[in-house]
Amino acid sequence: MVIATVRPGFVTSSAGISFGPRRGGPGAALTGLLLLAVALGVAGCQGREGQHAAGAVTTNQAGPSAVPADQTQAAEAQAVSFTMGTYAQIRATAATRTQAEKAVQAALAELDRLAAQVDRFRDDTQVAEINRHAGDGTWIRVSPDLVSMLLTARRVHEASHGAFDPTIAPLVDLWGFVETEETAPTEASTPESPLEGMGPTHLRGHRPPSQDAIAKLLSLVSFSDVEIDEAGRKVRLRRPGQALDLGGIAKGYAVAKAAEVLRRHGVTSALLDLGGNIYALGKKNSGEPWRAGVQDPRDPSSVIAIVPVADEALATSGDYERYFEYDGTRYSHLLDPHTGWPAGQVLSVTVITPDGGLGDALSTAAFVLGPVKGLELLESLPGVEGIFVLPDFSVKVTSGLKGKVELAGRGRWAP
Ligand code: ADP
Ligand code: MG
Repeated sequence: MVIATVRPGFVTSSAGISFGPRRGGPGAALTGLLLLAVALGVAGCQGREGQHAAGAVTTNQAGPSAVPADQTQAAEAQAVSFTMGTYAQIRATAATRTQAEKAVQAALAELDRLAAQVDRFRDDTQVAEINRHAGDGTWIRVSPDLVSMLLTARRVHEASHGAFDPTIAPLVDLWGFVETEETAPTEASTPESPLEGMGPTHLRGHRPPSQDAIAKLLSLVSFSDVEIDEAGRKVRLRRPGQALDLGGIAKGYAVAKAAEVLRRHGVTSALLDLGGNIYALGKKNSGEPWRAGVQDPRDPSSVIAIVPVADEALATSGDYERYFEYDGTRYSHLLDPHTGWPAGQVLSVTVITPDGGLGDALSTAAFVLGPVKGLELLESLPGVEGIFVLPDFSVKVTSGLKGKVELAGRGRWAP
């Protein structure tokens, strides 16, 4: 059984969540992508298990037999935790129970380690430090992970002609795509059901800012003002008022790093889900590839397409993850850095590639670019595939996925 690991304050406090929506409640277990192969069973298990110490892990015997887990047979460990403003689930198989449990613990620790570097709403992170010193000339010493994320960000920024730009932070704040006590969903969770209300975030009481206010901040959005001293591992922002937001790349990067940790611990098969950023390590214990379902953007309980994956990360950017409605129009948290307004040509984009950080950044970029230019971008990169869900629920895939993706639910092929 999956054990829910709940951080103190998780149930009620939602201020300053920085990496995207709270998700994964019973009604919407695994938003973004549903891993069909996995009976993660979060909804069913949470209530009874109640709250446990963070990082608690349980094991199952792998394979068909009901023999209790021991030290000689392959075994599976699972854990659920809360990190990076979202909900992480890991399920991993290794040679022994001890090995699987240690691996899962180490992978959760890896996620926490990265969260402690990139969360811009925590005072003590490297990103917060960079933002605090924007424009004052101070170089901030950063980790190799941060350098790596920023170099990937630069690559995607350039390849997307600016559609991906982590200096978007001032506009994200202006639009209010940051969850606060006031805007958090009202259906609060309870200790008996800790994940209640953790679905996609429909922000309340928001309205678009004035064009004037947008125009003023737009001049601060400029990734070329991020100075990266790669050899010296130092970073600074050129102008006062600028700020970095790695919400579009960090979860994908982190989930792939956590998968590396599992591999180093001898894990041969695993699934990791960090708020819809998924990594499928190896294959299922049966030897079949994992099958990932792309969520229906307007119905969290169904899937619209299914794709086989192995040793790949899947990142989804969707307009249903964090948004508000005003005057009948939906405004989502994915902003076009050229206009300062939410992008909205597609409902979701899922990117599949072994490099988790790259895939996450590309999913945001392709969402902003839309179905034509976004598809061109993904096609131009080797080893990168993608699935677009259009406003009429039609589905478009990159050429490498043709014949591999199955439609489901109300999905149909785009003409
Ligand atoms: P999520 O984090 O919701 O899973 P994404 O990976 O698409 O989804 O990242 C969205 C986050 O990225 C936003 O919450 C915001 O912090 C940031 N963001 C929004 N627009 C952009 C953009 N054009 N470029 C880079 N980051 C963006
Ligand atoms: Mg992204």
